Amino acid sequence: MNHDESRDLYDRALSVLPGGVNSSVRATQPYPFFVEKGDGGHVIDADGNRYIDFVMGYGPLLLGHDLPEPVQAAVQQRASEGPMYGAPTEVEVELAEFVTRHVPGVEMIRFVNSGTEATVSAVRLARGYTGRDKIVVMESGYHGAQESTLVEGEGAHTHPSSPGIPESFADHTLTIPFNDQQAARDIFEDHGEDIAAVLTEPILGNYGIVHPVEGFHETLRDLCDDYGSLLIFDEVITGFRVGGLQCAQGKFGIDPDITTFGKIVGGGFPVGAIGGKSEIIEQFTPAGEVFQSGTFSGHPVTMAAGLETLRYAAENDVYDHADGLAERLRTGVADILEDRAPEYTVVGTDSMFKVIFTRDGQFGANHCEGGCRQRPDCERYDHCPKDGGDVMDAETERWERLFWPAMKEQGVFLTPNQYESQFVSAAHTDEDIETALEAYKEAL
Ligand SMILES: *Cc1c(COP(=O)(O)O)cnc(C)c1O
Repeated sequence: MNHDESRDLYDRALSVLPGGVNSSVRATQPYPFFVEKGDGGHVIDADGNRYIDFVMGYGPLLLGHDLPEPVQAAVQQRASEGPMYGAPTEVEVELAEFVTRHVPGVEMIRFVNSGTEATVSAVRLARGYTGRDKIVVMESGYHGAQESTLVEGEGAHTHPSSPGIPESFADHTLTIPFNDQQAARDIFEDHGEDIAAVLTEPILGNYGIVHPVEGFHETLRDLCDDYGSLLIFDEVITGFRVGGLQCAQGKFGIDPDITTFGKIVGGGFPVGAIGGKSEIIEQFTPAGEVFQSGTFSGHPVTMAAGLETLRYAAENDVYDHADGLAERLRTGVADILEDRAPEYTVVGTDSMFKVIFTRDGQFGANHCEGGCRQRPDCERYDHCPKDGGDVMDAETERWERLFWPAMKEQGVFLTPNQYESQFVSAAHTDEDIETALEAYKEAL
């Protein structure tokens, strides 16, 4: 593959964009390919190379790159009627009605412009509603580029994970490992009366894809109820991806107080949202006292793209198709691993997938079919990742430096490190899956 154009573009970009990119994860080694355009389940780069795209914008593109006719028409009409107004529009109400109808924990919703903005606002809302300051997050959970959740450390011993964040932010943030029910009970025992909320992804989607063990979310729900704290599900990745239109909370049967959205709900345009019980969401201004506002919030083009995308998914076999292909891919990769790297773990559910380069454990006859589900009677149960730390202990260097470039050179675009989830879309085909499996066979 020739990458001359991309290299030249990166050269120019380095002079005017820090690190040559606008989001850090895009700065792949030695330089990223620059995308010319999308085509169905593929992207084509500046040098004309074609890749099967399993990055899908890091999650927003449920339908792939070719927007179906109704989505395209709605976006173009909205854009041609003047992009935004600073006054409400019907399409905001329609998308809110759609989301509240389908997502069990959501009675009201406030739309914002990014997942980060959604989690920032959700934390402020939980603090305002409860009158408490502390939040509990998962070690290695990801909730965007926000001060309160960019922390490292254990329990109450946390520090900001980035320069530029005062220590005092981390004073209010406690951490526990994902899937550690005892740690959850302990943190509530010590700090329960001060905890405004537990903030977690239903499935860790930015740290290798880690599925919850049985009872973990139930334990969090019970602890929050016992101590008067709120449970916030960050469904920015899982929303309208896992469990279809009911989202991961519907699939797992958990009723969070607040849910944050982003990615898919904007149909490929910048978006975030905070949904939940009316009593809580109505604390946002102007109904309540917790300040929340945004020039672009509820942007008509975004609202139209999100609404038509979700309507399309409701009326067509989007989830069956994408989930079915992803299941084939996960099962196919598991078969390849049995031969080549039986210690590695296939993870993912619905249309999410990843291979974790775990260091020990054999691939038993009794593994979870189609991706790790944390089945206690699985022969790999003690070896498959239970939290972000287990993913960090995997062969992350091999993944990033050898495996990812080998897949890229075969025309398969994966997320460029061991941590970020990959996605199958409605636009992928059987042939894409076959081609990808051949590439895995070569690269593993
Ligand atoms: C992507 C993501 C965010 C941040 O969303 P942005 O739109 O990138 O700000 C927050 N939480 C989770 C779980 C995410 O996957």
